Amino acid sequence: MLRPHTEVLTRGFDPTLSVGSARPAVFRSSTYVFSSPEAAERAFDLMAGRGTAEDDEQIDLVYSRFNHPNAEILEDQILPLETGAEAALAFNSGMAAIMTALFTFLKPGDSIVYTVPIYGGTQKLIENFLSTWGVTGVAVEAGQTARIDSAIRETKNLRVVLIETPANPTGLMTDIRRAADSAATLANKPLVMVDNTMLGPAFQHPFELGADLILYSATKYLSGFSDLIGGVILSKNRDLVTKMHAKRSLFGNILQPDECWMLNSRLPTVGLRMNRASKNAQRIAERLAPHPKIKKVLYPALFDDPEQLRIYKAQCDFPGAMFSLDLRGGKPAAFEFLRHLKIARNAVSLGGVETLVCHPKTTTHSGFTDEQFAQAGVTDGLVRVSIGIEDWRDLLADFEQALEAV
Ligand SMILES: *Cc1c(COP(=O)(O)O)cnc(C)c1O
Repeated sequence: MLRPHTEVLTRGFDPTLSVGSARPAVFRSSTYVFSSPEAAERAFDLMAGRGTAEDDEQIDLVYSRFNHPNAEILEDQILPLETGAEAALAFNSGMAAIMTALFTFLKPGDSIVYTVPIYGGTQKLIENFLSTWGVTGVAVEAGQTARIDSAIRETKNLRVVLIETPANPTGLMTDIRRAADSAATLANKPLVMVDNTMLGPAFQHPFELGADLILYSATKYLSGFSDLIGGVILSKNRDLVTKMHAKRSLFGNILQPDECWMLNSRLPTVGLRMNRASKNAQRIAERLAPHPKIKKVLYPALFDDPEQLRIYKAQCDFPGAMFSLDLRGGKPAAFEFLRHLKIARNAVSLGGVETLVCHPKTTTHSGFTDEQFAQAGVTDGLVRVSIGIEDWRDLLADFEQALEAV
């Protein structure tokens, strides 16, 4: 058995299928020439579920909305990065991945329990869209272990438990194993899905904790250069992927060949990038914590709540590269701080090799009600930081001079 960092470089790609090229070619074709009419018939039979493929059977490709070589290579190479993953699917955004997972496994009359705060798009999808299709959403505060348990036990027709941990922008953590254990006690076990965008695949491994599906915005750490939009779903169980694959073919939200190729080439470095960024973030967060102009630094390595510390230690290898600074002086202080940063750039998104900062209250979370702001811990002085792979000493100096100017 090869270890993940070796396997990600060696599996899934056969140079003889790319005229000997050491790296995969990009196959932009929209359609594929069948090797025989029989092979075409067989490919359509398999696609429609009229039969199952033999283990080493060569199946002709059909049409690039269903599948294409660059998606197949990506979906194979990404597996070693999540221990326990058996199959994966690539999508043209994180939201496309989340939407396809939910549409495949929820129908009118079903319920979904989900942690809040959750990514804004996911929240709108559940609360403003799925609700109008007869799906009941039950929101539970992130980190409230006992409340999540009771929501899982008490919600009628529960089909999906969706956990996003750590929560954005506060870093609040939810116990994945506990939620998966509660779900497993139900006669009709709901699927446990984890949006692992923030700490995966390097520092948090939801399949080891009992999750059924792992969802990613590949736009963030997986691709890592803030230059593509993509999403990935991984599963321990091939049948679940077959079901979502059928929906992806229908919706037409597969990731395009060029983007698959780019994302594929970023996978071998995701561990390196995340490790460097996490080390940087920890050094900077610890040094900023006592700064007189900062009320609090929200970061897993600086947690003081014992329950949060317990979850962090049990389910994460490292604290990651996201933290939030709660500045004294509210919005004016936060805006002055942003205005004076020279290296860190004021942009939403996260997980890139470059450091990005934003003011959640007026940007990513601006649609919240006052109650939601309070519940999510989004204050006027809060600045969210996604640390990159620059030299941490330059970043720290940049933060310090911007704080000086506040
Ligand atoms: C960005 C993000 C998404 C949405 O991904 P897109 O690629 O922008 O569609 C979903 N979940 C989390 C946690 C995210 O950070």
